[in-house]
Amino acid sequence: MNKLNLKPGVLTGSAVTELFAYCKEAGCALPAVNVIGSNSANAAMAAAREARAPIIIQISHSGSQSFAGKTLDNGRHQASIAGSIAGAHHVRSLAPIYGVPVVLHTDHCARKLLPWLDGTIEADEAYHREHGEPLFSTHMIDLSEQPLAENLATSARYLARLARMGSTLELEIGITGGEEDGVDNRGVAHERLYTNPEDVLQVHDALSPIGRFNLAAAFGNTHGVYAPGNVKLRPTILRDSQRLVEERRKTGPKPINFVFHGGSGSSHAEIAEAVSYGVVKMNIDTDTQWAFTHPIKTFMDDKGGYLLSEVGNPEGPDRPNKKYFDPRGWLHLGEQGITSRLLTAYDDLGSRDRFVF
Ligand SMILES: [Zn+2]
Repeated sequence: MNKLNLKPGVLTGSAVTELFAYCKEAGCALPAVNVIGSNSANAAMAAAREARAPIIIQISHSGSQSFAGKTLDNGRHQASIAGSIAGAHHVRSLAPIYGVPVVLHTDHCARKLLPWLDGTIEADEAYHREHGEPLFSTHMIDLSEQPLAENLATSARYLARLARMGSTLELEIGITGGEEDGVDNRGVAHERLYTNPEDVLQVHDALSPIGRFNLAAAFGNTHGVYAPGNVKLRPTILRDSQRLVEERRKTGPKPINFVFHGGSGSSHAEIAEAVSYGVVKMNIDTDTQWAFTHPIKTFMDDKGGYLLSEVGNPEGPDRPNKKYFDPRGWLHLGEQGITSRLLTAYDDLGSRDRFVF
């Protein structure tokens, strides 16, 4: 299969559709990393440059607030709206300099957060009027806690609005276990952690006439990282869902673009199996949080004697410590940690050396 040609910078509209179609056909997927500021966004673009592959950069409601500054009032979601827009412009300015294609995405949006999504889509529409493309590439709506009919009715309304700009909507059905962004599903009954393929068919029937969508269907995956063995992954649910839609609706093979939520902590074999059934995007957050923090902890421990005062260390009472406490140094260790964890994700997802840009 020929490598896919892409332009560096933020991808929108049909370029995103073609990217996901290519991934599914080539049997590979892209990491989607949650960013909370310029350090994590830059580390993500550095990983894409090293892997010679596109990156999906996503920002959650709370990640957006972090981007804007946690002291801002977020009463009507204004800090989250402004923070995601600021994050988008940061990535739009730097992606061409890194020379990498980026899919810019807003992450999990539960019902109570919909005004945040509305604000980011308004920013899309304003950007579209001026530049002929939306500000963000794709958005997510997460009404998996609601009954499926209600989830689909609201998702259809948002998809219709996004489709006018050629944008893709990601939605979630079934229940992803664990805890993330204030949604706690740790107590949920185990059978609810597995999607019924008939539900995937319903999603296909409701949304495919309206526009492009990516689907996070629960197959025993969990947000966050937990001790293994509690819930078993059953990626074959994705395979069975693809077959059901293909047979009943006479589509081509693998009609659905699946998204793997809660990819952190999964084994290489589990990830490869899920990708073979049409996963095109895997979210990674907990593992990159750890990858950022851990090298900084090691540095602080190793250099403890140089971090007790501005001047004076084990080498002498008048020796300066500036080069140890300057945050540019230790923050970069965290950035390198994120980049290297994402390179492992690219290997797991089989998406290195598949693209030209
Ligand atoms: Zn999810």
